[in-house]
Amino acid sequence: MHILLDAGRTQLDRWFPGFSDGMLSRGAVLADVGSTAAFYLNGHRKVPVPGNEVISSTRPFLESYVHSRLAECGNVVFRKGRARGLRFDSGRVSGVLFSGGDDADGSETLSSDLVVDAMGRSSRLGEWLAGAGWQPPALERLHVDLGYATALFTRDPADSGMLAVHSLSLPDSGMPRLASMAAVEGNRWIVVVTGYARERPVRDTEDFLERCRQDPSGHFGKAVGLERMLGGVATYRHPDNRRRAFSRLSRFPGGLVALGDSVASFNPIYGQGMSSAGLHAACLDEYLRGGPSLSEPARDYFENVDKVVAAAWQTSAASDALLPHSSATPTRQDRAAKVVMDAVLRASLVDREVHRRFLDVANMRAHPNTLLRPGTLLRVARRWRTDVSPV
Ligand SMILES: Cc1cc2nc3c(=O)[nH]c(=O)nc-3n(C[C@H](O)[C@H](O)[C@H](O)COP(=O)(O)OP(=O)(O)OC[C@H]3O[C@@H](n4cnc5c(N)ncnc54)[C@H](O)[C@@H]3O)c2cc1C
Repeated sequence: MHILLDAGRTQLDRWFPGFSDGMLSRGAVLADVGSTAAFYLNGHRKVPVPGNEVISSTRPFLESYVHSRLAECGNVVFRKGRARGLRFDSGRVSGVLFSGGDDADGSETLSSDLVVDAMGRSSRLGEWLAGAGWQPPALERLHVDLGYATALFTRDPADSGMLAVHSLSLPDSGMPRLASMAAVEGNRWIVVVTGYARERPVRDTEDFLERCRQDPSGHFGKAVGLERMLGGVATYRHPDNRRRAFSRLSRFPGGLVALGDSVASFNPIYGQGMSSAGLHAACLDEYLRGGPSLSEPARDYFENVDKVVAAAWQTSAASDALLPHSSATPTRQDRAAKVVMDAVLRASLVDREVHRRFLDVANMRAHPNTLLRPGTLLRVARRWRTDVSPV
C-alpha cells in the first residue's frame, strides 16, 4: 500500500498540471476523512475532519502514471540500465558509468552537468564517493524491525461505504499494530497488516485473515469475510529507518546531489517516503532556479533537504526509538515527544480541531512542532482523560 500524502500530491499537481484528476479518471480512488475515510485508535473512530482527502491507488499504478506524464516532457530521455559508478573530473562529478540495454556487462559513460542519486535506501553513492577519495555521508540507522503483509481483495463497487480505513492499536505491550485498507483501481481493496519484531506477520493466508479479524475497528474482518483474496499474501521487512548527513560533509564534489530514500528512508507506516521525495525535488527545483554554479558543491540544496528530513524524522523517530525491542537509547526529548503524541492521538478521537492539526502534520502540510503550540497543548490537555481502552 502506498498512500500519497497531501504534501506529495501538491508537488505532483504543481509539476504535472491536472495530476490528481488524471489519477482519478484512470481509476484511483478519492476518500475524504470527513466521510469515506476513517482513522481508528484501539477500535475507537476518530472524529471526522471533512476536507482532508486521500487518493489511493497501488504503487505500480501511481508510478506508471508519473512515468507517462514525464514521458510527455519533450526534453526527457529514458535510458534503461544500472548505474555502476561516477566519473570525477577536477573536483566534480562529470558523468555516470552505467551498463544497460543488451550489453548488461558492458560499461558506458553518460556525461552530465548534474547527477542526481535517486537510487533509494540501498544507494551505493557513499561507497562510490569513498572509492574516489571523497568523504561518504555518515549513515544513521534507527532499528525498527517492522513487518508488512499485504493482500488484494475484490471490492463490490456498489458498496459506497468506507473507501479507506486505518486502524492503529496500541496494546500495553508497547508494540503498535496497524491495519490499513484502501479501495484502489480495478475495484479492489488493498489490505495491509503490520507488526514489529516477534509480532511481524508471516506469509501465510490464515495468519493474515486472523489478524484482519482481530482488528478492533471491525472493518477488516468484515471485508475479508465478504470479499475474495486475489493472489496470495506478500510480506516485506523494514529493518531500520535511515538518514544520510550530506549537509555535514566538509568536502563534497560539485555536479552531484541526492534525493528521496537515498537521503532518508522512514518507517513506512507513516506514509512519508514519496512525499518526502517530492519535497526534496521541490528543494532541487528551487536550488536550480537560483542559477547555481554546478561545479560547486550543492550546499544550499542539502541544507534545505536537511530541514525536510529532520521534520519527517521527528514525526516518527520518538515513537520508533521507544519501541520495546529498539536498540536506540531514547532521549528525554523522545520520551516527552511520545507523551505529547499519545495525548494528541487520544484528543483527536473527540476534538475535531486537534484531529485537523494532527492531520496537517501527518500529511506533511505543517511542521510537527506546530502540535506543541500552547493553543494545541491546552486543547489536548482538556481531553487528557479520553477513554482509549481497547474495544
Ligand atoms: C512496504 C512499504 C510501504 C510504504 N508505504 C508508503 C506509503 O504509504 N506512502 C509513501 O509515501 N511511501 C511509502 N513507502 C516509502 C516509499 O516507497 C519510498 O519512500 C519511495 O519509493 C522512495 O522513492 P525513491 O525514488 O527515493 O526510491 P525508490 O522508490 O526505492 O527507487 C529507487 C530506484 O532506483 C533503482 N536503482 C537502485 N540502484 C540503481 C542503480 N545502481 N542503477 C539504476 N537504478 C538503480 C531501483 O531499482 C529503484 O527503482 C513505503 C515503503 C515500503 C517498503
